[in-house]
Amino acid sequence: MERERIGFTTTIPVEIILAAGDVPIDLNNIFVSSADAGDFIRRAEMDGYPRNLCSWIKGIYGSVMMSAPVDRIIIVTEGDCSNTISMLETFQVMAGAPPIITFNFPHNRDASRLEVEMRRLSSALGTTLEAAEEKRRALLSLRNKLRRLDDLTWKTSQVTGGENHLYLVSSSDFGGDPEVFERRLDAFLEEAEKRPSGRPKIRLAFAGVPPIFSNLYQYLSDHGAEIILNEMQRQFSMPYDCESLVEQYLLYTYPYDVFSRLKDLAVEIKRRRVHGLIHYVQAFCHRGIEDIVLRHELDIPILTLEGDAPGQIDARTRLRLETFLELIQSKVQNG
Ligand code: SF4
Repeated sequence: MERERIGFTTTIPVEIILAAGDVPIDLNNIFVSSADAGDFIRRAEMDGYPRNLCSWIKGIYGSVMMSAPVDRIIIVTEGDCSNTISMLETFQVMAGAPPIITFNFPHNRDASRLEVEMRRLSSALGTTLEAAEEKRRALLSLRNKLRRLDDLTWKTSQVTGGENHLYLVSSSDFGGDPEVFERRLDAFLEEAEKRPSGRPKIRLAFAGVPPIFSNLYQYLSDHGAEIILNEMQRQFSMPYDCESLVEQYLLYTYPYDVFSRLKDLAVEIKRRRVHGLIHYVQAFCHRGIEDIVLRHELDIPILTLEGDAPGQIDARTRLRLETFLELIQSKVQNG
């Protein structure tokens, strides 16, 4: 039987898609890595999506309508953003749009409700939660290797912040095939472990949704700074010690309130001895409001960086980054 391509717009229990024998496709990765990303946004605007709307939403919509990368889409209607719900409604009326399956992360982190949601998704994909549990166990070794990659980023700097970002952000769908992904990861780790250890002058954390900029990590490396903690990308890799799929997706911080993110960030910032935090906010995203809480609660220099369309960082952003790096550099020098 032909394997179905199951798309999604935010990280969901990928183990269920794999248990069903289908191919998981994170539409964020399709959009942002495409040479046609700008065309996808323009298509959404031509179909009536407002100009002052998050580019991720428009890009995902455009990629689905223009390149038809999936057979069905899972849309998260609780635990993601309201823009996604509006996108779902447009898919319901647009000719050529794929059928939708909905999924919810209960905002109150209720384990029994989450289990009901996982069983519902399993049944919609023609599998069971028990089969997905087996997949979770099968993926443990791969997830542990991603933890190893993360350790090589902050403990020895044998992995750059940009490499860390790429591998961890891809773990939402494992590039569609966990076995191929694991082979690539094995080869990368073997090569990285032979690199000399180092220590960047400036150790940064990156919080918020993954950046839409294509050269942010390179720019920072070129200026003596390295991102040694990628908050959300690390969350996508599910680096938890847990006993079940329900527990794993309750520990995952993204869909719930900002305070679980805050707790995770505070622990990792201290453990990794981070000098400063870049809080990335997407233009027109409600998550920008969470900046208030992060600034209120984290005792560390914070630069809030806003991005809009895919591409390289602009001159104003470069200037703000340079000023921030100078500030951190002087703090580090003065102890
Ligand atoms: S960046 Fe914000 S507005 Fe855009 S899809 Fe993500 S959560 Fe929604």
